[in-house]
Amino acid sequence: DFVKMGWNLDNSYLNLPEIFFSKINLNKVKSPELVIFNDKLAKSLGLNSDELKSTDGISILSGNKTIEGGAFIAQAYAGHQFGHFTMLGDGRALLIGEQLAPSGERFDIQLKGSGRTPYSRGGDGRAVLGPMLREYIISEAMNALGIPTTRSLAVIKTGETVIRENLKQGAILTRVASSHIRFGTFQYVAQWGNTEQLKQLADYSIKRHFPYIKDDSNKYINLLNEVVKAHANLVAMWQAVGFIHGVMNTDNMTISAETIDYGPCAFMNTYKPDTVFSSIDINGRYSYENQPVMAEWNLCRFAETLLPLIQENLAYSDQKDIIKIAQDSVSNFSEIYYSSWISKMRSKLGIFNEELQDKALIEDLLSMMEKYNQDYTNTFSSLTFDKDKNSDMFNSIEYKNWHKLWLERLKRQPESKEKARDLMKKSNPVVIPRNHLVEEALDSADKNDFTPLINLIDAVSRPYDYPYGDQKYSMPPKNSDCNYKTYCG
Ligand code: AMP
Ligand code: MG
Ligand code: MG
Repeated sequence: DFVKMGWNLDNSYLNLPEIFFSKINLNKVKSPELVIFNDKLAKSLGLNSDELKSTDGISILSGNKTIEGGAFIAQAYAGHQFGHFTMLGDGRALLIGEQLAPSGERFDIQLKGSGRTPYSRGGDGRAVLGPMLREYIISEAMNALGIPTTRSLAVIKTGETVIRENLKQGAILTRVASSHIRFGTFQYVAQWGNTEQLKQLADYSIKRHFPYIKDDSNKYINLLNEVVKAHANLVAMWQAVGFIHGVMNTDNMTISAETIDYGPCAFMNTYKPDTVFSSIDINGRYSYENQPVMAEWNLCRFAETLLPLIQENLAYSDQKDIIKIAQDSVSNFSEIYYSSWISKMRSKLGIFNEELQDKALIEDLLSMMEKYNQDYTNTFSSLTFDKDKNSDMFNSIEYKNWHKLWLERLKRQPESKEKARDLMKKSNPVVIPRNHLVEEALDSADKNDFTPLINLIDAVSRPYDYPYGDQKYSMPPKNSDCNYKTYCG
């Protein structure tokens, strides 16, 4: 019946040296029950939804049963958490294996909340229903927004309680990722392994994510270049939609540059660059405006791990320049980030061609939005649909002047007004997972009413074509994000 379910597992990670993982015995749960399942994602993975929703399927997704040919490992990694280096690893996750999809792509299938592992430290290895559903909603929203991300296949209730500040319902999320190799995986082997093992990880990562550089004579420098580029583009996408990751520790940064670890993340409502939601981020290290800088800081930590390999790539005469080469690679981040960010912002304003003054036009709008406490998402919707412009900002002289400049700018391109509007519609989501709606959906789900959850997932799954004006999913909360705090679960 594994075949009927569509499992087609391969376990390339097991070919890495043993320091990279630990074999895991199952930590069975009492009475697993399916809460939500992603039929579309299952299909794209070649998995059979009906079979996976059967008792046998749920046994697998709850970590009660192994699959023949599965990996069943927890992965080792380290990381800088809020600037401090430490040993980590999958403390509550279990890699079932790598599913080979009909497309030929390879995806990690991982259970999150599956019980203790050798890396659990003081933790119970478990996860709470609310935060797992939160990860499901937001990761699916990110995917629909076109932002690289891990995906969510299912959430199971374990039928067990988990102790947090009070008793909560336990849950397990099935996470799908193009891999779980983190900056922290490199940091781990750089710190506690040897150069040969580091090289094996680098070669493995290249083969899995950047196969087109595998024969380059300077492939380790190019690995760094590729990861820098991918992260610069990723963070530009976050900024463009107002996504705040919240816990950009190096263990939460993937080599694939997929967004991972939806703990304290949230979308910004009112445009305020210093917004922080995470209850533990007291200094605002991972605030909205700091995300590009922190990504670059993380890339420096990744680059450091590669120095011994970059050295091997260089001729003897160039040895003195290793650090400079790595620094130059990471310092490309700013330029790549900026060009990616400005091209997204141009699109949000319906601009196709490039003018030097575009930067000022965009920044002037953002300053006005900040001054008048405008909702980030809805300001762009209002501009797109030319509706709902009765706020203080839209009534101000400043805005009227800006608007004139914008219209003149739109005339300085060959594309028609209609074309510009179409570009704006494709670039400005109507629906983001609003914090108050997420909380409402989680509260109801906790009480066994799954309707708000399902409706919210439906809305965030089509952010660009959701009917404009559907108040429920596009209205910001009445008192904005006042006091909104997020927690790790
Ligand atoms: P995060 O802040 O989510 O990136 O997690 C940091 C580390 O804590 C990772 O190594 C996690 O596996 C581990 N961790 C988080 N929650 C638990 C838990 N309930 N039990 C064991 N380990 C955990
Ligand atoms: Mg993490
Ligand atoms: Mg986490």
